[in-house]
Amino acid sequence: MISRTELHTVLDNLLKPEDIKDYCPNGLQVEGKERIKTVVTGVTASQRLINAAIEQNADAIVVHHGYFWKGENEVITGMKKRRLQTLLAHDISLFAYHLPIDVHPEYGNNAQLAHLLGIENAKPMPGVSPRGIVYQGEFSAALSPQQLAQRFESVLGKTPLVEQVGSGSVKTIAWCSGGGQGFIDQAAEAGMDAFFSGEVSEKTIHSAREQNIHYFACGHHATERCGVKALGDYLHSQLGLNVRFIDIDNPA
Ligand SMILES: [Zn+2]
Repeated sequence: MISRTELHTVLDNLLKPEDIKDYCPNGLQVEGKERIKTVVTGVTASQRLINAAIEQNADAIVVHHGYFWKGENEVITGMKKRRLQTLLAHDISLFAYHLPIDVHPEYGNNAQLAHLLGIENAKPMPGVSPRGIVYQGEFSAALSPQQLAQRFESVLGKTPLVEQVGSGSVKTIAWCSGGGQGFIDQAAEAGMDAFFSGEVSEKTIHSAREQNIHYFACGHHATERCGVKALGDYLHSQLGLNVRFIDIDNPA
């Protein structure tokens, strides 16, 4: 068992939120009880995740997508009221780290995706800010776009949307988890054979076609489970906390 402040310090020391400009506050977003023994991790602090955390008797929740996003309506009504009311009524702390969980060199979504997918020499793409938001790497043996699509499906549990351009195989690849589709242009400029992200936009397909780069949309949720899950493993091994990752399925 540790204190809420100690957990906050451990998370901040690891993820260094002060180094990155983000669209939400990173760290403790909602303050709960003083002592923490059981932690639930998840992709998004949705009502379903909170309810599941209550069932687990969690003292804290750690997520990638928390609350208080720049530009959102600031009043506490409706869905937002219900979520906050549930957390406060059960005295559960909410810790959220957005971009720091995407870019972290070990526990980040992008770094973890490289491990899971067998991508070698994975490293942040030079010149893209913040560092680590786009990664690049390569496969030891070139894959056909179909073989790569199968790998995404078996590793991430979701059939990707594929825009195959021509018959070339995939040796070099760049990626950005979640809503990172806009980075396809930097990947094309860097001469990558393929690019993948979580979400897709209409214009992403034209970028792929006109810059001759295979593109795969693998799901926002599906590409962002791995970071916070790895972070939970770290909290368990380093601090001896009970940690449980709860996957609230999301087809997007
Ligand atoms: Zn995301």
